[in-house]
Order: sequence, then structure tokens, then C-alpha cells
Amino acid sequence: MDRFDFCIAGAGVVGLAIAHKLLEAFPKASIVLTEQESDFGQHTSSRLSEVIHAGIYYPPESLKARLCVEGKTALYAFCDKYRVPYRRVGKLILSNSSCDQAIIRLARNAKSNGVDDLEYWAEDRIKIAEPAVRASHALFSPSTGILDSHHYMQTLLTLNEQRGMLYAPRTKITSVHPSGQDFFVKARIDNRIKTETYGFNAKWFINSAGLWSQQLAGKIEKLPASSVPKQFLCKGEYFDYRGSNPFTHLIYPLPDHELSGLGIHSTQDLSGQLRFGPDSEFVGEVDYRVTPGKRRAFARAIRNYFPSLEANKLVPAYAGIRPKISGPDEKAGDFVIAGPHESGIPGLIQLFGIESPGLTASLSIGSYVSRLIRQVSS
Ligand SMILES: Cc1cc2nc3c(=O)[nH]c(=O)nc-3n(C[C@H](O)[C@H](O)[C@H](O)COP(=O)(O)OP(=O)(O)OC[C@H]3O[C@@H](n4cnc5c(N)ncnc54)[C@H](O)[C@@H]3O)c2cc1C
Repeated sequence: MDRFDFCIAGAGVVGLAIAHKLLEAFPKASIVLTEQESDFGQHTSSRLSEVIHAGIYYPPESLKARLCVEGKTALYAFCDKYRVPYRRVGKLILSNSSCDQAIIRLARNAKSNGVDDLEYWAEDRIKIAEPAVRASHALFSPSTGILDSHHYMQTLLTLNEQRGMLYAPRTKITSVHPSGQDFFVKARIDNRIKTETYGFNAKWFINSAGLWSQQLAGKIEKLPASSVPKQFLCKGEYFDYRGSNPFTHLIYPLPDHELSGLGIHSTQDLSGQLRFGPDSEFVGEVDYRVTPGKRRAFARAIRNYFPSLEANKLVPAYAGIRPKISGPDEKAGDFVIAGPHESGIPGLIQLFGIESPGLTASLSIGSYVSRLIRQVSS
């Protein structure tokens, strides 16, 4: 086939979810989902906390807030329908200050976002629920959960392929030429024996390339540079904890200044493996190595709420990189989902800055994109 209705670049969780929602909205559409790596979800979508966020932190009316709250409900329903393993473990956001203003501000923000199930916990309640934790106040979020994100992506891929989507791993989009009503897309296919160049046409081109969205935008002919936000890479490293897991819930400190990260928190996978992270550090390149020397700084941060932590049981685990559109000390940027209107190029949709809560919001991002296409086409 050399002409598709939709070409999506990037088989991370967001590209997979966009394809899923497009196939729901346009069941007869032909879709090709291209991925430069040998398999889906090898980058940010597998280097994360696997948390289904409630929607507490993001500024009211922002896309992050709207799509997180909508996406959380859609994701739990999807997991139920297709038996993707998850657990609504709940989360505690802790404060150790004598004044709980920060917690109150967060609760108000959450309420404006439509998150109305939060509870204030005082010290005695925290002690009963989480005896290993030290905190004077907490906000409890019962709708926060964890999921098996690999299983979720595999389910999306299987459903999409059953509905006719063409999945093309090892296929890197190298250039995109808008021509009349279509795009002429060139890709480099590495089929292990040799590398070939392949060209095809697509009516819509969707740039969902995560950490490479800005680089791919640079390969789109006639795209005004002013329509592409600047990119900042913010690395987050994790350490596994080889001691026993004393926590029932996910345990979070108050978020970092300007929301560059949510603070070094405890998370756990579905098998109960306890892990701490991610920290946040602006970096110049995609490099996933973990720095063993950060153990001391991690231990210091974690002991603020888990005093009996044994630092020698922290073991370097993995790192992920947030594709941000705001730099250090700037206010956190929102998700950018730019349609033809923004670029002046018919049929072009681009996603930038899809950092956390992109996993939680994946299905609602997919719905947003398919609504945008419907609006533009009508
Ligand atoms: C440390 C960390 C923790 C996080 N924790 C959470 C969490 O707990 N909950 C949550 O909701 N969110 C979380 N997030 C956010 C979430 O991981 C991301 O929002 C989400 O994974 C982004 O998915 P994506 O598909 O946009 O990007 P990616 O997963 O990076 O996928 C983009 C894909 O595009 C491919 N690609 C790039 N260029 C090309 C090209 N030219 N041609 C073809 N393919 C190309 C790449 O190989 C890649 O596979 C976290 C993020 C980080 C960094």
C-alpha cells in the first residue's frame, strides 16, 4: 500500500493510543504507525513510574489537567474491558511542615480540576495507615493507581492490528513533504539485513515522536520554525529498594518547585517491588545511564518521610527523560497538540511536551486528536 489516510510517527503509548481512538472514530481509515526502534515503547513510555495520576497538580483549564482527569477514567475503563492488570493503590502526598498551606493549595487546585475525592489525613491517621512514614499532614488520593504499562501498550497494538492498522517498526521517518492534499513521507527501513528507503503518501501526518518531536518537525518541509516550541530534556533517575516494602500506598513528598518533577517518591510495580524516583535534572542529550553516586542524595530526600530507610539497599535501576517545553526555573509548560491551524499546513498534527501525565492521559490525547481531525474535516 502506498497511500494511507493517517501516518503516525512514533509507537510510544501516545502514538498507540491515537491510532486506537482514530480507528474508533474512523473505522474504515487506513493507518500506518511507524517506529524507528525494533519495537514499541522503548523510550519514555517504558521509563516511567507507571502511575495512573488523579489530576491533582496541573493548573486548572490546562490540557494536562483536563486530559489527565478524562484519561484516568478512560484508562481504568480500558483496563477493566481488556483485562490490563492494574491496582487502585491510592497515594499519600506528605507535608512535614507545621503549617499545611501547601497541602491545602494542592487540594483546592485538584478540586478545580474536578478531583473531588481527596481526603486530609492528620498525623495519627497517617501513623495507622503507614507506620513507616513520618509526616504531620497528608492528602490522600484514592483514585491514584498503578498499571502494567507494557501490557497496556501491547493490548493497544493488538487491537489496532486486528482493526487493520499497519505497524512498521524499524521504520524511521526521515522527511515529510506536504504536496497538495497529501504528504509524501520518506522513511528509512532497517530490516536487519539492509537499510532501504521507502516513500508513501498520507492524507494526515501525526508527529508523536516524543523526545524527537522537535527533530522530526525540522524534517517537515515548509513548516515555520516559529510553530515549533523549544525543547528541554529533563532526566529522572530511579533506584530500586532491596529492603522489604513497608508501604501500602504510593508515598509522595510535596512537588518540586515549578513542577519540574513530583519529587522523589516511592512507587511500586504490581509485584510490590519498591522503587524511589525520579529526581529531575536538565540534561543536554538522551542518555539513560543511572548515576550510582546519587544514592546519597536520594537517601537524604527519602529519609525526610521514611526515616528508617537503609541507604545501602538503594540500587540504581533505570532513567527516563521528560520531553519538556519549559526550562529550569520556568513555569511548567502544558501539553501542545498543534493542528493545521497552528502550522498553516493542512493535515498536519504535532504533539510536543508530552511529559507526565502522558501515560494517564494517553487515551484522552487520542480522543482529542480525533476530535480535532473531525472538526477540521467538517
Ligand atoms: C521519569 C518519568 C516518569 C513518568 N511517570 C509517569 C507516570 O507515572 N504516569 C504518567 O501518566 N506519565 C508518566 N510519565 C510521562 C509518560 O511516560 C510520557 O508522557 C509518555 O510515555 C509519552 O509517550 P510518547 O508516546 O509521547 O513518547 P515515547 O514513548 O518517547 O514515544 C515516541 C516514539 O517515537 C519514536 N520516534 C521518534 N522519532 C521517530 C521517527 N523519526 N520515526 C519513527 N519513530 C520515531 C521513538 O522511538 C519513540 O518510541 C513519566 C515520564 C518520565 C520521563
